[in-house]
Order: sequence, then structure tokens, then C-alpha cells
Amino acid sequence: MRASKVLLTFDIVTLMPEMFSAISDYGVTGRAFKENIVNLNLWNPREFSMDLHKTVDDRTYGGGPGMLMMANPLVEAIEAAKVRQSNLGIKSSKVIHMTPRGKLLSHNEVKRLLSCKGIVIISSRYEGIDERVNDWIDEEISIGDYVLSGGELAAMTMMDCLIRQLPGVLNDDESATQDSFVDGLLDHSHFTRPEVFKDMKVPEVLLSGNHEKIRLWRLKESLKLTLKKRPDLLAQKLLTKEETRLLKEIQIEQEQGSI
Ligand code: SAM
Repeated sequence: MRASKVLLTFDIVTLMPEMFSAISDYGVTGRAFKENIVNLNLWNPREFSMDLHKTVDDRTYGGGPGMLMMANPLVEAIEAAKVRQSNLGIKSSKVIHMTPRGKLLSHNEVKRLLSCKGIVIISSRYEGIDERVNDWIDEEISIGDYVLSGGELAAMTMMDCLIRQLPGVLNDDESATQDSFVDGLLDHSHFTRPEVFKDMKVPEVLLSGNHEKIRLWRLKESLKLTLKKRPDLLAQKLLTKEETRLLKEIQIEQEQGSI
């Protein structure tokens, strides 16, 4: 492993380590692992269970349905993961538990987490984890207001968002700088060949070769889409003079019924 090139190291605590091949073996993220820009190690709490049956879950005190992940195997796995990160020379590692009660993942949260060189992620199962494990956890993150069966998909969602922001991961033509949310707006519409599809033509300006006109069209399109689909984003955004002018144009066009 060429440690100097690794930009982000993940250690995942999971009962289902096989699931992570979905992120390490495919597409853009797979390439980042292959090129050693990111590094991954998986820890199964079952390996840290003290009993013969490798038990990692138990009933909850007070009764009720469902099982809970026991504290000891989890804490042992977290500590082993932290030792590995420290042996790799990582000083700014964070332990994150994926949980519905965590802070909602957003582009701004992703940007903030990119300051870490190492992340230990706990993907829990069952009803979650014994509350006392929280003494080993720095942050709780949720990927949305719904409940998954386990933290693995949530962990991979967060990992994917982080990995695609790292320098060298995306090719130029896949650049993340023009994606939705980066400038507080949704991405504009895109078209590819053929020029006419079932009587629908590609907007003329995109065929013009005039880069400035294309830039303005795209920005206006972004504003239009954001206004229509996510007005909450526009309400939070500090608009530039150009964006304010384009937004006024859009509002006038809307009043005139031309869009
Ligand atoms: N009893 C928990 C609750 O109601 O909050 C749900 C447990 S869920 C069945 C099992 C695990 O899936 C959670 O402990 C967590 O690791 C993961 N999980 C479920 N929904 C999630 C979400 N929205 N974001 C992040 N992780 C989630």
C-alpha cells in the first residue's frame, strides 16, 4: 500500500462486511479504491465476541420487541479500528455511528467531514446499539428521515459522497464542482445525441458553440429548476447580481405564462 497517496481511510464496523464490495468494487468509488486514493478495512464485531457462539446481540432491558447490539464486541472492534488508523499515522480520525437519530447528511456535512483523514463508521443492525457505546462515538449521522434495516447502506451512501469529492477521483468530465447543491442550486438539464428525439429538439443555444450564452442558459436553467423543485434552497442562498437578474427574468416569464 502506498500510504502517502491515500487521502481518506475508512474502517467499518459491521456484521455484514461482504456488503461493502458494492462500494469497493464498482464504478467511480471502485476506481478510487483500486488507485489507493481511499483505503478500507472491515471489522466484524462477531470476531470480538467472548462466547462460544460468537453472540453479538441480546434482548433489551425493560422488554419489548427486537434485539440490540451488545456493547463489548462493538467497543472492542472500534478500539481495534482506531489502533489501525493511529498506526497509519492518522491523527484526525472520527468515529461515526450511522443512525436515524443523527445529524442529517447534506453537501455541507460532506464538506465538513472531508477535513478528516480517517473515519471509523459503525453500521449497526437490530434495534441499534447499547446506549453506553456512545462514549466511544464522536458523531451520529442519518441519511434521511426513514428507517433502513441496517447501517451498511447508510455508511456506503456517506462514503460515496465523500469519495467523489476527493481530488483525483473524478475525471474532468465527471467533475463534482457542477453538481447539485455545490453552489446551493440544483444542476441544470442535460441533453445528448440525437439532436431530435421523438419531435423533441435539443435547445438551440446548446448547439451554438457560444460558451458564454451556454453558461448563462445553464445558470438560468439551474435557477428555474431550483425555484420549481426546491424553493427552500433558493431561500437559503446568497444570490449573485447575475443570479438575481436571471431570477427576475424567470419570474417575469412565469407571470407572462411563457414558461
Ligand atoms: N430502532 C431504530 C430507530 O427506530 O431509530 C432503528 C434501527 S434500524 C432497524 C437498524 C440500524 O440501521 C440502525 O441502528 C442504523 O445503524 C441503521 N439505520 C437505519 N436507518 C438509518 C438512517 N436513516 N440513517 C442512518 N442509519 C440508519
